[in-house]
Amino acid sequence: MNRTIVIGAGFGGLALAIRLQAAGIPTLLLEARDKPGGRAYVYQEQGFTFDAGPTVITDPTAIEELFTLAGKRMADYVELLPVKPFYRLCWESGKVLDYDNDQPQLEAQIRQFNPRDVAGYQRFLDYSRAGFKEGYLKLGTVPFLSFRDMLRAGPQLARLQAWRSVYSMVSKFIEEEHLRQAFSFHSLLVGGNPFSTSSIYTLIHALEREWGVWFPRGGTGALVQGMVKLFEDLGGKIELNASVARMETTGDRISAVHLTDGRHIDTPAVASNADVVHTYDKLLGHHPRGAAQGASLKRKRMSNSLFVLYFGLNHHHSQLAHHTVCFGARYKALIDDIFNSNVLADDFSLYLHSPCVTDPSLAPPGCGSYYVLAPVPHLGTADIDWDREGPRLRDRIFDYLEARYMPGLRSQLVTHRMFTPFDFRDELGAHHGSAFSIEPILRQSAWFRPHNRDAQISNLYLVGAGTHPGAGIPGVIGSAKATAGLMLEDLA
Ligand SMILES: Cc1cc2nc3c(=O)[nH]c(=O)nc-3n(C[C@H](O)[C@H](O)[C@H](O)COP(=O)(O)OP(=O)(O)OC[C@H]3O[C@@H](n4cnc5c(N)ncnc54)[C@H](O)[C@@H]3O)c2cc1C
Repeated sequence: MNRTIVIGAGFGGLALAIRLQAAGIPTLLLEARDKPGGRAYVYQEQGFTFDAGPTVITDPTAIEELFTLAGKRMADYVELLPVKPFYRLCWESGKVLDYDNDQPQLEAQIRQFNPRDVAGYQRFLDYSRAGFKEGYLKLGTVPFLSFRDMLRAGPQLARLQAWRSVYSMVSKFIEEEHLRQAFSFHSLLVGGNPFSTSSIYTLIHALEREWGVWFPRGGTGALVQGMVKLFEDLGGKIELNASVARMETTGDRISAVHLTDGRHIDTPAVASNADVVHTYDKLLGHHPRGAAQGASLKRKRMSNSLFVLYFGLNHHHSQLAHHTVCFGARYKALIDDIFNSNVLADDFSLYLHSPCVTDPSLAPPGCGSYYVLAPVPHLGTADIDWDREGPRLRDRIFDYLEARYMPGLRSQLVTHRMFTPFDFRDELGAHHGSAFSIEPILRQSAWFRPHNRDAQISNLYLVGAGTHPGAGIPGVIGSAKATAGLMLEDLA
C-alpha cells in the first residue's frame, strides 16, 4: 500500500507523521536535509552541541500527548528538565528581572520597578489567561476552513479586544516601560511585532505560567530524536536527504511526489511541512491552484528573520541564566526598524542561550556552548548582503557580549558559526528568509492564514508555522493536531 507522505521533518511534520502512523495510516516522512528537526537542527563541533533554533520548550502536555496517543511513555524517549528562572531580562540601564512562575517573587520584583504595577500585572495575567483559554485551548488545535468558523470565534475575539496590539494591551495594565517590554516581547518568539500583532498573543505569558519552561536533557535535538524514534517504533518510515522537487497532480488531486534525486513516489495524500510559499509556488507551481496561491501568499507580510551566532567557549559563564534577553537601548524604534526598515539598524536586542546552565553535557567539561540571536529584517524588507554584513554583525555582537555579559569571551572562543537570513532562505527554503513564516497579525491569522487543508486540491494538507495556528513549537504541534483530524476523517 502506498504511504501517505509528509514533506519535511520539522516539529510540525514530525508531530503529524506520529499522529497519522499511530492511527494506522502508513506514513513516509521525507526530509531534504541530512538531519530531522527543521529549524530545530543540531550542529556538533569539537565536542560542543548547538541547538540551531528552539530552546524554550513550553506546553509539555502537547508533546506528551503524542507519546500517550501512541500508547508509549514520553519518559522512555526524552527527559524534560525544568528551567529556572524562565528568562533573565536585562537592560542596558543595569535593571534585571528574573521572570519566573513564583508569583510572590515576581510581584516583589515588579514592585521594585513600580509598586502600582503589581495590581496591574495581576489584571494583565487575568487577561492573558482569558486569551490563552480562547486562543490556545479552544482554537489552537482546530482548523479554520470556513469563514463561519471565524465568525463563531468573533464575539470572544471582540470581547478580548483582539484588534489591539500586544504592547497596547500590556500598556493598558502596566505603566512602567521596562515592565511593558518584559510582558510584551513574547510575541517576538513567534515572529510577531508586539506593536502590530493581536493582543491575543499575550496568551504566551499565560501558557508559560501554566506549564512552565522546559529543556530536554541533551538539548532540543534530543526531543527531535525522541519523536523520530517514536515514529519509527510505530512503523513509520523517514528518509533524510530526500528533497521533494514537485507534487504530481491528476486533475485536482496529488497523485505522486517527485524527488530531486529523480525518484517518483505514488501517494494517496500529501501534507507539506515545507515553507508555504515554497509549497505552492515551487512544489505545485505547475498547477493553476499552486501558481495562484503562490502569487497570493507572496503578497502577505512575512515575519522577521534572525541572525544567529553559535559559539563554543573553553569557559562556562556560570553567572548567566539559561535564557537571557538583552534589551538594547531602543525598543519600539528598533522593532520598527526590524519589521519595516530597509536597512540593518546600528543597535540590537539579543536573546542569549546558555544551555550548559541546565545540562553541562552539551559542551566538553568546564566549557560552555552558547548561541545568541538578533531579530533582523527579512530579505523582502531589507536587501542586505549577509555575506558581507554577517561577519560585521558577528563582531559587533561579540564585542557587546564581552563588554556587558561574558568577560573574556574572545580569548575563550573555540569555535563559532553563523546562520543568516540567506541560510533561512537557502537551507530551509524560507520565503524572504523569514524565520517564522507568515507574520501573525490578525488579518493573517486563523481563517486568514493558509488552511490546514487546501480548498481546491482536496488531498493536499499543510502543517507547521505557515498554517493555523502558527509558529512556535506549541503552535506547530497544535497545527499537526488540526491537520491530522482532517486527514483521519478524509483517509478513513
Ligand atoms: C533561531 C530560532 C529560535 C526559535 N526559538 C523558539 C523557542 O525557543 N521556542 C519555540 O517554541 N519556538 C521557537 N522558534 C520557532 C520554532 O522553531 C518554529 O516555529 C518551528 O520549529 C517550525 O516548525 P515547522 O513544523 O514549521 O517546520 P520547520 O522547522 O520549518 O521545518 C520544515 C522542514 O521541511 C523541510 N523541507 C523544506 N522543503 C522541503 C522539500 N522540498 N522536501 C523535503 N523537505 C523539505 C526543511 O528542510 C525542514 O526540515 C524558533 C525559531 C528559530 C528560527
